[in-house]
Amino acid sequence: MELIELRDICKTYHLGEVDLPVLKGISLRVARGELVALMGASGSGKSTLMHLLGCLDHPSSGEYWLDGREISGLSATERARVRNRTIGFIFQSFNLLARTSALENVMMPLSYAAEPLTDRQMKERATGLLKRVGLADRMDHQPSQLSGGQQQRVAIARSLVNTPQILLADEPTGNLDSRTSEEILRMFQDLNLREGLTVILVTHDPEVARHAQRIIRIKDGLIEDGATAPAGADGRAAAPAGDPA
Ligand code: ADP
Ligand code: MG
Repeated sequence: MELIELRDICKTYHLGEVDLPVLKGISLRVARGELVALMGASGSGKSTLMHLLGCLDHPSSGEYWLDGREISGLSATERARVRNRTIGFIFQSFNLLARTSALENVMMPLSYAAEPLTDRQMKERATGLLKRVGLADRMDHQPSQLSGGQQQRVAIARSLVNTPQILLADEPTGNLDSRTSEEILRMFQDLNLREGLTVILVTHDPEVARHAQRIIRIKDGLIEDGATAPAGADGRAAAPAGDPA
């Protein structure tokens, strides 16, 4: 079973009188446990697609199957519930709360968690994640007191705090130097390999995309290449070409 399947997804933004079609019929699949890079020129619709995948927005038409359930028609509240339980986000600009400690930043999404946790449980979970991303000695630091790479590591810890199945990272290394980028990308690879986390990584940098198992290319709102995993990529034998489904 695919974790994610999009069928003919379209997204048109409406700006006053003007319709702006951005996604024009996107079909793709991502299996559980894949690490995929989404590549395309600026303005091609990558972030729009990530917003739909992350249940931040809904498509204008088409089907979004997530873990066996069609969710394109969910209300905003239902979408938020799916998002909080299933998806972790990482952004190019880190999106941490200013004047707020690393620990509090990581704890923040727990206030929307499905099961209510005690203050102590929240603190333990956030502390554990900050240790895991190598920031045990920076828990009380605010974002302005951290380097870019450290801020992104806080953001990664925050994205994991509700134990998501999917990590969506939109240009996560766009503001980082190449050595720090490499550290962050290794972290994604590690989460993918060791914990089976499904990762979708937006980038326009081939050096970044190299860290993925598959590259999906988007151009002008359409998938150019890589919409499905190559045969047998998830360890199962693929059906022979032409096999009736
Ligand atoms: P990318 O991430 O590949 O650079 P985006 O998905 O951000 O591309 O944007 C694709 C197109 O959609 C751009 O032309 C952009 O201006 C437009 N766009 C993105 N978000 C919105 C929005 N909320 N409202 C209207 N237009 C938007
Ligand atoms: Mg973008």
